[in-house]
Amino acid sequence: MFDTTNDPATNGLTGRTILTGDRPTGQLHLGHLAGTLLARRALQEENRQTILVADLQALTDNAGNPAKVSGNLLEVVLDYLAVGIDPEKTVIARQSRMPELMEMTLLFLNLVTVSRLQRNPTIKTEVEARGFGESIPAGFLCYPVSQAADITAFGADLVPAGDDQAPLIELSNEIAARVNRLAGSEVLRRAELLRSRAPRLPGIDGHGKMSKSACNAILLSDSSDEIRRKVMAMYTDPDHLKVSDPGKVEGNVVFAMLDAFDPDQEEVENLKDRYRAGGLGDMALKRRLEPILQELIAPIRTQRAFLSRDMGEVAAILDRGTERAREDVAPRLAGVRRAFGL
Ligand code: ATP
Ligand code: MG
Repeated sequence: MFDTTNDPATNGLTGRTILTGDRPTGQLHLGHLAGTLLARRALQEENRQTILVADLQALTDNAGNPAKVSGNLLEVVLDYLAVGIDPEKTVIARQSRMPELMEMTLLFLNLVTVSRLQRNPTIKTEVEARGFGESIPAGFLCYPVSQAADITAFGADLVPAGDDQAPLIELSNEIAARVNRLAGSEVLRRAELLRSRAPRLPGIDGHGKMSKSACNAILLSDSSDEIRRKVMAMYTDPDHLKVSDPGKVEGNVVFAMLDAFDPDQEEVENLKDRYRAGGLGDMALKRRLEPILQELIAPIRTQRAFLSRDMGEVAAILDRGTERAREDVAPRLAGVRRAFGL
């Protein structure tokens, strides 16, 4: 499996309180692996880590199709276990089974304005991608507030996530500061984003980030045939017609993948120079990338298939984690309630 022992992003981090999560809107993909899963796997050794399966957040843009969310809940947990998240070291919890988070969300909603939420760059991008127009579900507009409850309830000071999360963490910190001002003491902590080496892996079509909702992802469960097909279909430089033509590296998905996953980064830089100069074909690049991705995903896929034979145990892991998580957040909720005079 891909080596993370020398990742400068996670090296030397100990004793931190970490909260991350994923929406169970589909199986996890290479964007998750590069953007956050590898960091989580490394960080679980020396830090206190919780991963929240954010099924309530997933419903905010899937209320018309709740089966999509319930059907992917355990699939996402399976993905965690398959990449080496160890439930003895990392608490895996289910958002919708934690009423503490909902109560905190409701209180936090009094501390933000609708226009502040509408101006949030992540929300703007996502509203556009989902084609909501003027009809944004109120739950969707407010999900950053619910996420602020998630982060602060666990007392997290570190969130290893993709770049899309930066504006949401900023909002969470604003809310925490307001609660602390109300309370007159430090009830909630500030959190910072931990950026990985690939904080925004693009989708294979070259439009935006790789995302479950956009059908542009290579999944951690994809077969070797699917991986091959997706690598061959990957967006490169549409103006690079002949091998001898100079090619563009920026926006080229194959290079973004090589940047994220090729163990020989020096050679990747050489290839970029040759591509820019002309004389290096897309096919040669894709032939380099394919075995790297095949090798990366094969052990995850095998482990996933093995673990999926006992879905009862996967569900039990989530139940046990949720119980531990509820105990963890209770004192912070009590502090927030006191801040509001409740
Ligand atoms: P959806 O399309 O339903 O929003 P998603 O693919 O964006 O799904 P999320 O569950 O929203 O996945 O994101 C979970 C975590 O993975 C977040 O920390 C996010 O920053 C990170 N992440 C998601 N996509 C990428 C990506 N393409 N590159 C890097 N990190 C990513
Ligand atoms: Mg997302």
